[in-house]
Amino acid sequence: MNAQEILKAAAAIQPEIQANRRELHKHPELGLDMVYTKPFVAGKLREMGYEPVDCGEGGLYVTVGGKKGGKCFLIRADMDALPVDEEADVDFKSENPGKMHACGHDTHTAMLLGAAKILKDAEDELEGTVKLMFQPGEETLQGAIAMVEAGVLDGVDAGMMIHAMTGMPMPKGMMVLLDGGSGMASCDQYKITVQGKGGHGAMPHLTIDPITAAAHIHVALAEIHSRELESTTFGVITSGMFHAGVAPNVIADVAEMEGTIRTGDPKVEEMLMTRVREIAETVAKAYRCEAKVEFVKHCPPMIADVAVTEAALSYMQELLGQGAQKMSTLTGSTKVAGGSEDFAFVSAKVPCTAMMLSMAGADSKYPQHHPKAVFEDDVLFHGSAAYAHVAMRWLADNK
Ligand SMILES: [Zn+2]
Ligand SMILES: [Zn+2]
Repeated sequence: MNAQEILKAAAAIQPEIQANRRELHKHPELGLDMVYTKPFVAGKLREMGYEPVDCGEGGLYVTVGGKKGGKCFLIRADMDALPVDEEADVDFKSENPGKMHACGHDTHTAMLLGAAKILKDAEDELEGTVKLMFQPGEETLQGAIAMVEAGVLDGVDAGMMIHAMTGMPMPKGMMVLLDGGSGMASCDQYKITVQGKGGHGAMPHLTIDPITAAAHIHVALAEIHSRELESTTFGVITSGMFHAGVAPNVIADVAEMEGTIRTGDPKVEEMLMTRVREIAETVAKAYRCEAKVEFVKHCPPMIADVAVTEAALSYMQELLGQGAQKMSTLTGSTKVAGGSEDFAFVSAKVPCTAMMLSMAGADSKYPQHHPKAVFEDDVLFHGSAAYAHVAMRWLADNK
């Protein structure tokens, strides 16, 4: 099938892709807990003639092709939602209180199911194998690593992901590829526990105040960026949580801080983690406290591969013409985005490309993760066609 035939095949199943998306949207689930979603996806895949393989907690994959030998290309969708109460004005609203597909992962899952159908129909033509990865737990950064550790990348040579976007100034249906060499930030979440000695608020000399120590740690961490990083280097340290004390006249025993470190460079990531630890421990000591520093979550930077991205851009332009663009062409910038993406655990092992599908017009008001975010799903078939076409073309070019 050539590009236009694939786009036509995808357009023909748009109603089915949309129906699957709306069903998934009504039943959002969090983290690795895919009790509705996983059987739904596995059932749809079985109807198409696939044999789903369980992988990691809550994940599954299927493969198609391979009859002519060749390489293996992985295409991935994430399936999890967010702990957000939906306020969007849609008639397929979340039926699970406190949970919403506010990041559009329901659209990814439906688009990959659409690609599964197109690829199954074209199976005899495939010049290699396509592996379709359905992962849970992207928002919690648990899903991809669990599947990687369970062997989802065995035999995989390259890969691709799509993320739906809303609230962005791009025409609906446009596909934007992250530039090779750039991508999404790493994420390292820290927890600092500052241990003091609590007591009476009127007798501080008999206590060791952990709030004083933690406040100095907070200020010192904020100064790393301005004093220790080159001015053009992207690195963020945010302590978003700071808790201590129970009463105005009681000196607390302990103060807790939690935060996140973001950067696009693994070396900077290591340096920032080291400095957070050193500063917290030594500043606490200066104020007679003890600080325990834990890194509770980690995701490496997700960097797009130059060669796979250049190839994918040419395939996408066969499909959508000028409706597929590199991020730098649109924004004039190749900088790393501040958000994180746990597809990084895949892109760290095999060369990958990542693209964003605009699912709202330029006038869309609410961004991803917002309770009123809306993803207009009449362009889902662009995503299904993109998954199928890029996989087929890459396999044909890399026999
Ligand atoms: Zn998200
Ligand atoms: Zn997302």
